[in-house]
Amino acid sequence: NLQGYAPICLGLEDFYVRRLYLRIQDCFGRPIASAPDAWFDVVERQSNDNNKTLKRTEKITRCLNLGSYNYLGFAAADEYCTPRAIETLKKFSPSTCSTRVDGGTLTLHNELEEFVAKFVGKPAAVVFGMGYVTNSAILPVLIGKGGLIISDSLNHNSIVNGARGSGATIRVFQHNTPSHLEEVLREQIAEGQPRTHRPWKKIIVVVEGIYSMEGELCKLPEIVAICKKYKAYTYLDEAHSIGAVGKSGRGVCELLGVDTADVDIMMGTFTKSFGSCGGYIAGSKELIQYLKYTCPAHLYATSISPPAAQQIISSIKVILGEDGSSRGAQKLACIRENSNFFRSELQKMGFEVLGDNDSPVMPIMLYNPAKIPAFSRECLKQNVAVVTVAFPATPLLLARARICISASHTKEDLVKALEVISRVGDLVGIKYFPAEPKKE
Ligand code: PMP
Repeated sequence: NLQGYAPICLGLEDFYVRRLYLRIQDCFGRPIASAPDAWFDVVERQSNDNNKTLKRTEKITRCLNLGSYNYLGFAAADEYCTPRAIETLKKFSPSTCSTRVDGGTLTLHNELEEFVAKFVGKPAAVVFGMGYVTNSAILPVLIGKGGLIISDSLNHNSIVNGARGSGATIRVFQHNTPSHLEEVLREQIAEGQPRTHRPWKKIIVVVEGIYSMEGELCKLPEIVAICKKYKAYTYLDEAHSIGAVGKSGRGVCELLGVDTADVDIMMGTFTKSFGSCGGYIAGSKELIQYLKYTCPAHLYATSISPPAAQQIISSIKVILGEDGSSRGAQKLACIRENSNFFRSELQKMGFEVLGDNDSPVMPIMLYNPAKIPAFSRECLKQNVAVVTVAFPATPLLLARARICISASHTKEDLVKALEVISRVGDLVGIKYFPAEPKKE
């Protein structure tokens, strides 16, 4: 039973093996504390200069970071965002030390909510200090006993937690398979049955814009159509898609041509494309007002940190070109180009790469979890840091290396990384397809 042995590891070095070893020691009755270092031998980030410097054990090694969610490169000193965030830090300090309703709301928070609503294309929004909490605290407010949540089988743990905490009945549909979603819905209600004449008080279908372990885009147009047909609400988590995809960075609705009016609850985080902290829910004015009156994470939690809020506003301004430059449009074009280039080069080399075009998330399949330490260590030796993922975050024999591409990676960075990954791929034996012959 390997449950609990395989965490998501950044630049993992024998970590996997050592955790197993520790558990074996445990079985012999020796205390885990006898080798505490084994739990913490992870790569640290040393600076934020465009996804590059990481620390490994005592040695500071300059590594190319292919594991960060810093999709647009805003989690680095930015000529527009950073001075404004520093100014806000000086003016308001790192924290309001108050809840939103007890003196913790600054004009900045209201401005942020207006900005986010406008950006994602909904009438209103509410922000929270943490993305994880946004899912886990909102779902129990939206639905409870007598309600039905239909969740994609690969939804993020924060959704799973929120769904479980809500007390609603949970059904799972096969990952990104609209036909199975319809089957599950049909088992529960008849097509066209009015909301008032069915056994559920409410039905919410929960999906993600880009699946973080698969790199896949949600089949949103089909899912939205099914939800409309069966009068179920749609809840879309755009943690990995907002800011990262779509012509103007407005996420999967923009990319896939879905009207945001057809998605009832839009959720996202600020920890990826915007280089900050926190999460949001966007929806109708009535929904957001209801959440502000009832959600414990709004009423009882300290408001989002002022410099973090300013960072989000500033990065959205850059994305929209409201900083007076074309940097936002360039970043969006660059992440798309970088992602599509990297994905197609990996495929040409013979790797099995999951996910869709335009997605900056690209898992390279390793399958056998025993290949994780070798792949990770060999990449690190050649100064490329990758995230490896295994059970229980993935099925046991579907271990993978999960590459995240950023607009801050240069073409030279990517070419170098491809060379390293190709060499390591040969060494570890994970090129499962024949390579395409190189064009002269
Ligand atoms: N939703 C999804 C789909 C995620 O992948 C994550 C984290 N990566 C979260 C929510 C939680 O967001 P945060 O890290 O901002 O707390």
